[in-house]
Amino acid sequence: MRIDLHTHSTCSDGTEPAEQVVAVAARAGLDVIALTDHDTTAGWAAAESAARQHGVQVVPGMELSCEAAGVGVHLLSYLHDPMHPGLAGEAELARGSRDARARRMVELLSRQVPITWADVQAQVSQDATVGRPHIADALVARGLVRDREEAFAGLLSSRGPCYVRYYAVDAVRAVRLVVEAGGVPVLAHPRAEQRGEVVDDGTVEELVDAGLAGLEVWHRDHDDDARRYLTRLADRWGLLSTGSSDYHGSGKPNRLGEHTTDPDVFQEIVDRSASVEPAGGSPVDA
Ligand code: AMP
Ligand code: FE
Ligand code: FE
Ligand code: ZN
Repeated sequence: MRIDLHTHSTCSDGTEPAEQVVAVAARAGLDVIALTDHDTTAGWAAAESAARQHGVQVVPGMELSCEAAGVGVHLLSYLHDPMHPGLAGEAELARGSRDARARRMVELLSRQVPITWADVQAQVSQDATVGRPHIADALVARGLVRDREEAFAGLLSSRGPCYVRYYAVDAVRAVRLVVEAGGVPVLAHPRAEQRGEVVDDGTVEELVDAGLAGLEVWHRDHDDDARRYLTRLADRWGLLSTGSSDYHGSGKPNRLGEHTTDPDVFQEIVDRSASVEPAGGSPVDA
């Protein structure tokens, strides 16, 4: 069993529609993928129907933008009720704030380079969660940078003058909401240090007390030290350890299945969910 529990589609900052992510996963020989777009579940229906078609199991999920003691944190939620008002409400607030923030960033950028909000809109699929990657794509389309990587290293850097923050729910509240919604909360790439500041152990412990189920340990943004460190934390607090690609199509070098999750851990996630079940999975023609 090859299980990849973190992927993005054009419903957020991936470059392929959800059904295509599932098709690519089938071709790559994966058995299970989770669709975890930023702050939205809009891709679930398309992914679930593609799952039945391609014989891949799809775990409906979301990567919720959160904040803990001023640090940006991403929380993966698996198999939650997408209609839970508290959780859906926080995702909607994040999407709205991201939209206003992207407009403001474009305003700041336009003092330096020729870019308009219409350029960015042209890069965003309908109803998708807007992020810096879409601004990056607009800069690429204008020939101002080569790729997303170059945009993030320069104009879009979180340390640069054009960076603007956006609203994100407190991470402890987010963990509680995911559990209330019958979902399983797993902290995404907790020690991806090149993205900026990471949460300290005290914060992780607070999340554990709130009901955190696991840590994403095997992820390309973690070096060996980080993986060892997180494995120890997971052991100490009895947390699940997951692995995944954080696939964004051609928007990032991450390849589907480059890191995977143990089948027993996956089963535990399914068992702990009190809401929805994975979709598809039985090959049409085995
Ligand atoms: P935002 O959430 O709008 O602040 O943008 C952060 C998102 O951009 C993350 O979800 C990443 O997937 C993506 N990202 C961060 N760094 C890079 C990079 N160097 N190249 C491509 N995508 C990136
Ligand atoms: Fe992303
Ligand atoms: Fe993330
Ligand atoms: Zn992600």
